[in-house]
Amino acid sequence: MLDKLRVEPGKAAKLADRDPADKLGMSGKPQGRKQLDKLLPELADLQNRLAAESSRGVLLVLQAMDAGGKDGTIRTVFTGLNPQGVKEHGFKAPAGRETEQDYLWRVHQVCPGKGEIGIFNRSHYEDVLVVRVRGFVPEDRWRKRYRHIREFERLLVDEGTTVVKVMLHISADEQRRRFQERIDDPAKRWKFRAGDLEDRKRWDDFQAAYDEALTETSTEWAPWYVVPADRNWVRDVAVAKLLHHHLSALDPQFPEPDPAIVGTKVV
Ligand code: ADP
Repeated sequence: MLDKLRVEPGKAAKLADRDPADKLGMSGKPQGRKQLDKLLPELADLQNRLAAESSRGVLLVLQAMDAGGKDGTIRTVFTGLNPQGVKEHGFKAPAGRETEQDYLWRVHQVCPGKGEIGIFNRSHYEDVLVVRVRGFVPEDRWRKRYRHIREFERLLVDEGTTVVKVMLHISADEQRRRFQERIDDPAKRWKFRAGDLEDRKRWDDFQAAYDEALTETSTEWAPWYVVPADRNWVRDVAVAKLLHHHLSALDPQFPEPDPAIVGTKVV
């Protein structure tokens, strides 16, 4: 399943050829639930080991169009993990000191430390996505950022952070449905901003920006995964599997016990 989601480094991401409603070979929601029920306790165990080992970190980068399901993914996939070991960070438009520094300044500061899992709810990729589409900086500047980002992520990986990058891929139709629900449902209305409609008008420009950003920054050390996200349950299983896959590959170990305490009887 995961190979299919990966954007092969050096190849075009081709978002238009990826079906946001794909069920990834699963029969339906009950099967998805079953998979999650198995994956989530295993994720909790892996996280516990990662924290105990305290030598490496994991960074999950989540990007999506508005209403793409970043918040729901975080809520579901991180259920059952120890909040002490998870650091979520949402990136808004830069403000204050952030506007006076280079765009990676605020990002580097909140990368996960040893033993931690970091979640970026939006990320430095906004600096080649919304910044490009809205024309916040000229092209000759944002275009150089692909190279900065590839090298920045290489630094993170070289220094012991596994970088897992996920784009939650929804269709324009599904976004319309979710926006409408947000407007109509008082419990969801707080999530809706008038600016969301402005960005929706630029749907094609955003898709083109995503397509190019994914193509340019999917690397051997930090590849992109495009997760079909029109169905929440497919999205949740896919992201849980991706995290599980990368944490299992790290195979974090409990530290060697102090020989002085092994076998000690506590009285
Ligand atoms: P979300 O949509 O992620 O739930 P918000 O509704 O607060 O959260 O949206 C955050 C906004 O901040 C988005 O519109 C996003 O495009 C914007 N943003 C994030 N990073 C940047 C950036 N580097 N430059 C400009 N805008 C940004």
